[in-house]
Amino acid sequence: MYEFLQLQEGSNVIRIITKPYLYLCHPDFVPLNGSPNGQRLKCPSATTYTMCDLCKSSSAKRRWVLGIIAKANNNCCLLDCGTTLYSQIRELALSHYWGDPEAYDLEIRNSIDYYAGKIGTFVVPIPKTDLFRDEQLIKANFDLDILKQMTTPPTELVKYKPFGVSDFPPDRID
Ligand SMILES: [Zn+2]
Repeated sequence: MYEFLQLQEGSNVIRIITKPYLYLCHPDFVPLNGSPNGQRLKCPSATTYTMCDLCKSSSAKRRWVLGIIAKANNNCCLLDCGTTLYSQIRELALSHYWGDPEAYDLEIRNSIDYYAGKIGTFVVPIPKTDLFRDEQLIKANFDLDILKQMTTPPTELVKYKPFGVSDFPPDRID
């Protein structure tokens, strides 16, 4: 099992080594026994073709999980990202000058967005380089089944609690 990259304030340099895997979730909730990162409450609507209980009050959000190498320590890990991060990576992928985001490193910067007055996440591409031999091996050995399992929609909503409110009584514990 791979760990999730915890984005630090400032600079985080990564190399993407897999395609992005999309899943639908309700980000304001987490599974009762889960941790939030990459374990957000998955919405079953893609399997059941009907809205789940939470879809009725707020629509499910798209998130993506990717396999990456964290360049700080050469660790193979996972990146769980929402639209802010994903849309920036996608723009690079669509760019004629940058293209396939597996071909270059990315610096993910968590810095103060002075205009918005809060921390913003910005993606900066780093000029193309080949992977080192050890990184090529990490990429070749990456277990894609983990990403597939992680993003497969469930057949029903699991028991959940609000995200970030640890002592809040769960809405639903039946
Ligand atoms: Zn739902």
